[in-house]
Amino acid sequence: MLIGNITKSDFMKECVFCKIIKGEIPCEKIFENEKYLAFLDINPMYKGHTLLIPKKHTDYIFDIKDNELTDYFLMAKKISFLLKKVLKTEKVGLVVEGFFVRHAHIHLIPINIGDSLDPHLQKPIKKEELEEIGKQIRKNIKKIRISII
Ligand SMILES: [Zn+2]
Repeated sequence: MLIGNITKSDFMKECVFCKIIKGEIPCEKIFENEKYLAFLDINPMYKGHTLLIPKKHTDYIFDIKDNELTDYFLMAKKISFLLKKVLKTEKVGLVVEGFFVRHAHIHLIPINIGDSLDPHLQKPIKKEELEEIGKQIRKNIKKIRISII
């Protein structure tokens, strides 16, 4: 398939999330299985702001087949449960846009008040702080009884 003079595989070579999946770009991983990867956003809106991505490259989330989309959202539910418990927030907000990185992704954002999901609040976080949050979440995966795997 051609997109202008660029083949689909050329385009995918440049996809930042595909590079993260391949381990070519590091990330603060929360959870991974054969289908999905959840990692902390390096520009979080709030503490624990997580990106959940399917490993199979798809640009637009609603191009994902029904059964896979159901599975994807059920995984988002599980990760949200984990974030809510560990970070002790009232809810976890969900945002899907997909313009900045054209690889389907769900933002899962721990929140305590309404009208608080504002992308302008996203700002870089220190690597050490990101690692600490990641460690805190990962260590609780087994403690919290969710059939995530
Ligand atoms: Zn990709």
